[in-house]
Parts: sequence; structure tokens; C-alpha cells
Amino acid sequence: MFQKIRYRLLSSYLVVFASLLGIFAIAVRFAFTRSLTEQITDKLTAIGKGAAANVEFEKGRLTIESDFRPQDLIAYHQALQWFDTQGNLISQQGKTSLILPFVPNKIVQIQTGKIPIQAVTVPIIASDNSQLVGYVRVSQSLEESHETLQQLDLGLGGGIFITLVLSSIGGILLTRQAMQPIEESFARLKQFTADASHELRSPLMAIKINAELPLEYPEEIGPKDAEKFHAIANATKQMTRLTEDMLILARTDRVSNQDRNTLNLTSILENIIKLYKPQAEAKQIHLKIQLTPNIQLIGDSVQLTRLFTNLLENALYYTPSGGIVEIKTSRVGSQLYVNLQDTGVGIAPEYIDKVFERFWRADQSRSYWSGGSGLGLAIAQAIAQNHGGLISVTSQLGVGSCFTVRLPTP
Ligand code: ADP
Repeated sequence: MFQKIRYRLLSSYLVVFASLLGIFAIAVRFAFTRSLTEQITDKLTAIGKGAAANVEFEKGRLTIESDFRPQDLIAYHQALQWFDTQGNLISQQGKTSLILPFVPNKIVQIQTGKIPIQAVTVPIIASDNSQLVGYVRVSQSLEESHETLQQLDLGLGGGIFITLVLSSIGGILLTRQAMQPIEESFARLKQFTADASHELRSPLMAIKINAELPLEYPEEIGPKDAEKFHAIANATKQMTRLTEDMLILARTDRVSNQDRNTLNLTSILENIIKLYKPQAEAKQIHLKIQLTPNIQLIGDSVQLTRLFTNLLENALYYTPSGGIVEIKTSRVGSQLYVNLQDTGVGIAPEYIDKVFERFWRADQSRSYWSGGSGLGLAIAQAIAQNHGGLISVTSQLGVGSCFTVRLPTP
């Protein structure tokens, strides 16, 4: 149980932490890409302005000055393009694989692809009459910045991975430390329940014996007193059962390996059925049995007897006379299934999840005096889980219930 809580605590912590790191990485990536694009835009704008200053506009024609050496202005991964006001390409310098159409009012253009290209368009203004005479488009392959971004991604990814690994180790240590006092106090509480139940056994036994003793001499006590002694004896019986149930519940997850033996579940079930047959007959309940012979299991026979006794007791109690209780075993792969089906009162759908809770009863009036402590199914489930199995239930109000115990076979 604590292992599960620890695991859940750790995984939710890691999910939150990983999400935060992810958001942080995306923010860093976004800010870095933005500032890189801005830097390149500024650089290309400066180059564009330089190139724009080296053109002449004469008789409505745009020409590049003869003494202009573009190679001084641009690097190997950059290119220059001059356009007239109509957007016709006039001249071009440098290597470029820019295929984006020229759009005069779009200052920054980015061409995506294997090697992305960023282009910046700068207008050329005539110095004498401040008229727009053309455009220069400067472009640059983003291979270098692409590589820088890849390195950043690698750094961020690696950083996140290492942080997550380290924080997982830290998380494991922290959850272990945080759970330790809880586990200890839980163990103490369980020990207390076990001790208290154990200690209550002897005084209860004494009360029971002393209450039953006068009942053996009814002539010495009046019928009124006999009734009282009866009530005391019954109450003590129920309290004894309750303390025994609590003791079992406090100890079920402590089945030591020495209590586990290879056992024959068929004969365990047959013994239980033999024991409860008179009760079924008295209530005119038809017991239908369909057992696979010689089912071998590894487990604690006392606990397994308790598990199926609890289920059968319930089935007989909640089935009205004339009903049917069916006990069936089957095997699917390495799993053994024991079904206990009854034609009893059934369980309302809204309560079906509650039946395995401790002290829960659909009918609150079924008090200790009428048998059952409300711990029967909780004990049955704890025992099944302790054996690596599970109990499930399907039920329909007024039709009946079917409890299925699944247990692993060796
Ligand atoms: P109890 O001691 O009251 O039987 P259990 O833990 O064995 O306690 O069962 C809890 C509750 O589940 C019961 O009070 C009853 O409402 C319901 N229940 C258990 N078994 C059956 C059944 N076979 N048919 C109908 N209701 C059942």
C-alpha cells in the first residue's frame, strides 16, 4: 500500500517538475530564437542600407555604382538583390537559393526548408528628392543559427534529462523520508489494534463463561434474569467475533512465508460447504456446487478458509429461503476463479464500491446482535490481496449478487 502511495507521489512530482522544465525550455527557446532573428534582421538592415547607398538613379533607371564592391559588404552566406519600384530584379550578388517572391512591403521574410533563409528588404530613397527609387533585399542562410539552435536544443534537452534523473533520485529519497513517519505510525496503530484485540480476548472469555454459567441452572435464576444473562452472553459472543475480526485485519498483511503452504483449495471449500450445509437446509436454500477437483494453491489455509467462510455466510444470510447459492470454480491460464452467486437481496449500484469498506453495511440495522461485524468483506479482500489475488462483485438489487475471487495458482 505504501509502495503504491510512494510511487504515485513520486510520479506526480516528476510530472509537475517535467512540465515546469518543459515550459521553461520552451520559453528560453522562444526568447533565444526571437533575439537571434532580431539580431540578424539588424545586421541585414545595415548591409541593405549600405547597398542602397551605392546605387544611382538616372533617367528613371536604377544602376549600381561601378566602384561598388559587394564582396566587401556581404559574407559567403549572404546575398544582395536590387529591385526597381515595380519589383523587377535589376541585379544580384552572392549565392542565394532564395525563391520567395519579392514583396515590397514585407520587411522580414523567412524561407523555411532544409536550410532556412532570412531576408530583409530595405527601400532605396533618392538623396536629392527623397523619392522611392527601388529596393534592396538582403538575404542570409540561417545554417549557422540553425546549428546554434540545435546546440541549444541539445543543451536544454540534456539539461532537462539530467535534472529529471537527479530529481528522481532526490524524489525517491525524499518520499522515502516523508513516508517513513507515516508508515511507522500506521504500523504502530495496527500493532495497537492487534494488541488491544488480543488483550480483550481473555476478559471477554471470562464474561462469556460467567454469563453462561448461571444459564446452566435456570431454576436458580428467574426467567427475567435468564434473559439478561442470555443478552450478556450474546453480546460477548459478538464482541469476541469483532475483536477477532480486528485482529485478523491487523495481521492479514503480515502473513509470513512460513504460514504459506501448498494447499488443496477444493478440500478447503468442501469442508466449508459441509459446515454450512445444515444452515442452508434450515433456511431452505439450495446449495449448488461445481468444484474442480484437486485445486492446488500456495497460501495460508486458515486465512483462505476465513475468506470463503465470510463470503458463504453473507450469501446465506442475504438470500431469502427458497433461494439458490452457487459455488463454482474455474481456471483461466494461471488464474483460479471462485464464484459465489446468490439469489439474495442484491446490492444497490451506488453501494457496490462500498461493500469492501470496513464497518460498512447496506442495512445499518444489521447490528452486532444479528451477526456480522461489517468487517467480513474487508477481511476477505485483505486476505485475497495478501495472496496476490482480488475480489470483485457484480450485483443487482432484488436479483442477487456474485462475488468472484481471483487467485494465482502456482
Ligand atoms: P456484514 O458483517 O454486515 O455481513 P460484510 O463486510 O460481510 O459485513 O458485508 C458488508 C455489507 O455488504 C453487508 O452489510 C451487506 O450490506 C453487503 N453484502 C455483503 N454480501 C452480500 C450479499 N451476498 N448479498 C447482498 N449484500 C451483501
